[in-house]
Order: sequence, then C-alpha cells, then structure tokens
Amino acid sequence: MSAYPHVLAPLDLGFTTLRNRVIMGSMHTGLEDRAKDFPKLAEYFAERARGGVGLMVTGGFAPNRTGSFYPFASKLTTPAEARRHRRITDAVHEAGGKIALQLLHAGRYAYHPLSVSASAIKAPINPFRPRSLSDRGVRAQIRAFADATALAREAGYDGVEIMGSEGYFINQFLAPRTNRRTDRWGGSAENRRRIAVEIVRRSRLAAGEDFIVMYRLSMLDLVEDGQTWQEVVDLATEIEAAGATIINTGIGWHEARVPTIVTSVPRAAFTGITAKLKPHVGIPVVTSNRINMPQVAEEILARGDADLISMARPLLADPEWVAKAETGRSDEINTCIACNQACLDHTFAKKRASCMVNPRAARETELTLLPARRTKRVAVIGAGPAGLSAAVALAERGHHVDLFEAEDDIGGQFAIARRIPGKEEFAETIRYYRRRLEVTGVKLHLNTRATAADLLGQEFDEVVVATGVAPRVPGIPGIDHPSVLSYVDVVRLGKPVGDRVAVIGAGGIGVDVSEFLTHDHSPALDLDAWRAEWGVTDPEVTRGGVTQPRPGPSPRQVYLLQRKTSRIGKGLGKTTGWVHRAALKAKNVEQLTGVNYERIDDAGLHISFGPKRERPRVLEVDTVVVCAGQESVRDLVDELTLAGVVTHVIGGADVAAELDAKRAINQGTRLAATV
Ligand code: NAP
Ligand code: SF4
Repeated sequence: MSAYPHVLAPLDLGFTTLRNRVIMGSMHTGLEDRAKDFPKLAEYFAERARGGVGLMVTGGFAPNRTGSFYPFASKLTTPAEARRHRRITDAVHEAGGKIALQLLHAGRYAYHPLSVSASAIKAPINPFRPRSLSDRGVRAQIRAFADATALAREAGYDGVEIMGSEGYFINQFLAPRTNRRTDRWGGSAENRRRIAVEIVRRSRLAAGEDFIVMYRLSMLDLVEDGQTWQEVVDLATEIEAAGATIINTGIGWHEARVPTIVTSVPRAAFTGITAKLKPHVGIPVVTSNRINMPQVAEEILARGDADLISMARPLLADPEWVAKAETGRSDEINTCIACNQACLDHTFAKKRASCMVNPRAARETELTLLPARRTKRVAVIGAGPAGLSAAVALAERGHHVDLFEAEDDIGGQFAIARRIPGKEEFAETIRYYRRRLEVTGVKLHLNTRATAADLLGQEFDEVVVATGVAPRVPGIPGIDHPSVLSYVDVVRLGKPVGDRVAVIGAGGIGVDVSEFLTHDHSPALDLDAWRAEWGVTDPEVTRGGVTQPRPGPSPRQVYLLQRKTSRIGKGLGKTTGWVHRAALKAKNVEQLTGVNYERIDDAGLHISFGPKRERPRVLEVDTVVVCAGQESVRDLVDELTLAGVVTHVIGGADVAAELDAKRAINQGTRLAATV
C-alpha cells in the first residue's frame, strides 16, 4: 500500500486517463523561443515523463504576435511552427507521458510597443503602455486562441492550458482594475468575463471533444480592484459550461505586492482558496503554489481540497519526484526550496532557467553523469553545498569517495540559512544530501579537519577542496569589543543578542540576519500570521483578497548598514529581493547607506557619512553583528598541489566574493562529471 494513495490515483477524464494526480505546471525555461532548442526541451520533458508525472504543461506560447512576451518570443501561430513541436510531443509520448501546451497572451505585460489589453492602462512593472482593443480586435484575439488550440492538437499535444490568471491578458479583462470598457467586453462582471468564456468555448470547438482544455483561473488576484469571490465562482461555472476539462488555480498578479511562491510563503498556503471553489464546479480542480513534497500533496488531496496538484519548480528540482514517491523513496527527493535563484531569476534576466539544487535541469543533454571509465579514489574536503554536490555526483559515477567535514554535521552555509525565518526549506537540501551520501556509499567523516599530511598518507587519486569560507573581520577600531559578534555566532551558535543591534554589511547575509533578529521566532511559518503580515484576506470580504498588512512587532531595534550608497538589497534576486526589502520595512529596520565605521566602544557603534566623514552619529547598540562578507579558506591547496596531487578547488574556497550556493552546486556537479 502506497503512502500517497490520493496522489498516485489515476484520474479518468472520459476520453483519456491521467496516470496520477501530479501536474507539472507551466515554467518558461528559455528553450521555447527558438526551434533549434526543441531537442533540448524534448529531453527536458521526456526525463520528467519517465519520472512518472501525470500531465506536463509547457512554458507559455503566445497565440499571436501581439500577445508574445517580447519580440521573437515563443508563439504558436502557423502549421510550420506546429510541426516543429512534434519532436517534443513524440519524445513525451514515447516516455509514457502526457503534455499540454500553455497558451499565454501577455496583454499589457508584453515587453514591446505593440501590446494590447482591455484598456490602455500601463502595468506598474512594464514601461510599455498597451493599446485598448476595438471590438474587432477582441474577436481577433479569441480567434487566435482557438486557432492556436487547433495547432496544438496538430502538433501532437494532449491538450492546452489557457492562461487566464497571474494578471495576463485574459485576467486584464476580468478585473475592473484594468478593464474600464463600456462595450460588451467591459462594465458588468458578465461582460468582463465574456472574453474568457468565449476563448474556452471556441477553443473547445476547434479542438474537438477528446482534447484537454485546462483553464488557469485567477482565484485570488491579490491586487486592488481585482475580482470579487462571486465573480470568481461565476467565471468558473461558465468556464465549465463552455467546455473546459480541468480548472487550474492561479494566485496573484505579477504586479501584486504579496509574495506567492518564494520560500518564506508557507507550504500549501493557497490551497484553501481552491477548496473554496471546488464545490461550485463539477470538473476536476487543480491546486498549486508552494507544494513541494508528497506528504503535503497527499494531505491536500485527502482533505478533498482539490483533485490534482500542480508543481512546476519541484519537478525542475527532481524529475523523479513521482517515481520516488511511488517506490517509497520520498526521502530521496531533491526538494525545491523555492529560492527562485536559478529558475525564475534566470527567466526574468532572459537566461535559460535551471535549478539551484539540480544544475542538470534544462541541461539534460549537456550535463550528464555517465559511469566513470576508470574508478578513482577521491577525497572531498568540506560538506557544504559544493562538497556535497561533488561527492554524491562522483559516487553516482562509480568513484570511491571520502567526504571530510570539520564540523559535527553537513550543510556548511545551508546549516546557517535554514535557521533564518522563512528559509526553513533549506533544511530539505541537507536532508536530501544526507540521504544521497548513504545511497551512493560516500564515506562521511564528521568532526574531521583533514590535513594535507592525512590526505597524502591515504593515497587518493584526486582531492576536491571545498573548504568554503570564513567570515571577514573588518579592520574597524574596537572590532574586538565584547559587543561584537559574527553572523555565525548569532545564527548558528545562538549567542544572546541585545535589544538594540547594528548589523554591519547589507549583502544577502546582512539582510537575512536582520530578518532573523526582527522575528519573534514563534511557531515557524504560521499561516494566519503570514496572511496578516502580507495583508491577504478572503476575497469574499475584499475585492482581490488584499487588505492592509499587519506585520507583528519586532522584538528589537535593528540598524542595517553598508558603506556603498546604493539601495540596500540591490544585489538580491529579482523575484525575491523585493520581498526581503518589504519585510525589513515592515519591521522598521533602519537602513543606513554611505556609512563610515569609525569605531566600536561601550557607547555603541560610531559612524559618519560620505567621503568627508560628515554627520557623525553614535548608534547606541548593545550588539554589533558583523556580516561583512567572507574570505576563501583554501589552506590545503598549495601543499597538495606541491605534493603532486590532482587538486580541484570549488565553491567558496574557489571564489568567496561571489559565494553563492547556485554556483557552488553547479561547480561541484560539473567537476564530478569530468573526473
Ligand atoms: P556579500 O553579499 O558580499 O555582502 C557583504 C557585505 O559586507 C556588503 O554589504 C559589503 O557592503 C560589506 N562589506 C564588505 N567588506 C567590508 C568591510 N571590510 N567592512 C565592512 N563591510 C564590508 O556577502 P554576504 O552577505 O556574506 O553573502 C554571501 C553570499 O551569499 C552572497 O553571494 C549572497 O548572494 C549569498 N546570499 C544570498 C542571500 C539571498 O539572496 N537572500 C542570502 C544569504 C546569502 P559595503 O562594502 O558597501 O559595506
Ligand atoms: Fe526550486 Fe530554487 Fe530550483 Fe527554482 S532554483 S526550482 S526555486 S530549488
């Protein structure tokens, strides 16, 4: 008997059966825009089909040029384009999977001057103002969706997903926020939803009865002047009547100021809204957002909140997610930690997406871990993200690996990150590697600071130095004052901190430490507290489901300082930085830039501003926490190299300045692929 009977139950749709309740939600990888990348995209999907996913959805393809994200971005408008998709659909079907094409019209989110929308209202996140469509123009868009659906069928897809949420084109007609029309496409709720219903009706007619038409419905817009709950329910019932097979859940417009998918959003935070809609429709409903492990998915389905689970990023992180859940190996799942660092942050930077914890994602044909031709004895020094990724990938290829760690546990910088409120998911990566070390047979030596002499004595063929970083100690007068602590002291060792604290250095870790210090450490990821903090409410109470945020008070006064004059948090991820900045603001963290650190003494931290050291000020703090970056620890390298040992240096030991886990894990895996 499986531990996840609801997740693994097939779903009969009448004309076809999905083998389980797992949908891989749409995620733009960057391989969609040029047909020359389709072989890579085909393998990306085929690997996930082999991993057992019930139904996959492609990244967005526009039904016409005006709807595409930017000039020459992915679209499906001609039979010639449809033919090129055969490579993808054939690969998925050969692997036993099913795949739907997502039709996404960007509307006013399109990055080009030809964008169109319900009304000529510019989005706050896009410099281009859309043109308001004429009645004829609206009908042309509906036709484009229906034509693209027919082409998707011709291309061999099992269905389409019509993207009606996230603030894109269709959503722009649905909400009064962006629809100020007075014709039959605007005004009353019935008029506003006419385009969505017509698109589904015409797409169904174009595709025939035996084709999946999934509609992604915005159940919670999370913007002012979004839809009311009654409007959402009426839309869903009409979408069903118009011929949709499945309704998927969409949460939050891209311009919403409420985080919906980042790691600090509690798991399954939005399934309640899908559950609220479910009794109103007869067709299967899908829930989504921050569902990343089988147990969470099982609980949702067992409660009856939804019929299916959609996950995009968790299947980037682990293509074998379903297979592992099926075979009692869920502890081997490489969990998506919702960091966005290699997926969405790449997409927004127009780079090919991947995954921080799985650098093979969207590189399946390029980064392969084939069995090694000659088995070697390899020592890996340091069990942080770089060393762990190298060790397990080396062992997977058949090498004999010894992993040495000076601390009493694995994890390195992740062991610090997981203690930050809202970053608890980082513990999953440690759990994954712990299990992978066991499965692949890596010999782990904890509490062991390997010396060059030890290593030379054991005659390893190659050594991988992944000894990481040590916190930088800045040369500020008074840096050895008892009030000064490092971020390791505070976060990892839990040393006591006073009521007034100055944080020196506002990089990723300074921001994290400020969040750590302003959080009251009550039960982690409490859903009601999180909703209150971000102003999420019932859409039955307020249009769009947003209200005034009510963050809890900070237990202490925190100052966050940097010498640069640029905005604090500028270097943080595009899709996560704004969440951190908003969280600091909510906790009244005083952010000071252009600072000179004069000295630290019993009175506190003495600072001045600018090159002329103006406006001297004393921050009367009890504790100063130093987060001034790191320096590489690479003591072993010279001795080993001099002794003639093949030595590789990866992660923070290689470059501390840009120390980040994405590079570390990628570097470890890529090195292991070549040894
Ligand atoms: P970092 O991003 O390099 O920031 C170091 C900070 O220390 C800067 O604010 C810098 O600002 C300051 N600093 C540098 N030298 C100093 C000195 N001698 N005296 C005083 N201040 C000094 O390093 P980090 O914060 O330790 O983060 C390490 C890595 O982890 C980064 O790559 C980061 O991307 C990653 N990380 C990311 C996140 C996230 O995305 N949320 C979270 C944690 C870690 P000034 O020079 O202007 O003073
Ligand atoms: Fe998940 Fe981060 Fe990987 Fe994206 S990069 S799929 S958020 S773990």
